[in-house]
Amino acid sequence: MKCREMVELMTDYLEGTLAAGERLRFDEHIAGCDGCRAYLEQMRKTVRALGRLTEEEIPQQVKEQLLDAFRNWKRKSTAP
Ligand SMILES: [Zn+2]
Repeated sequence: MKCREMVELMTDYLEGTLAAGERLRFDEHIAGCDGCRAYLEQMRKTVRALGRLTEEEIPQQVKEQLLDAFRNWKRKSTAP
């Protein structure tokens, strides 16, 4: 599973609506990818702060911030 797919599945994962197979693949990826783990944590915090979980209800700006943070992390992690 690619990191990009992970981002798409985060909300479903947090809601517990992922299919068993997908969830397994998600867990496997999370276990080996610090970037996605950090992103998932950010997502959890945001969801907690907003008090809701539906992806459509997460303001686009917040989502962009998360994606930016994620991208920055990736850049840092691959820098020498
Ligand atoms: Zn990843």
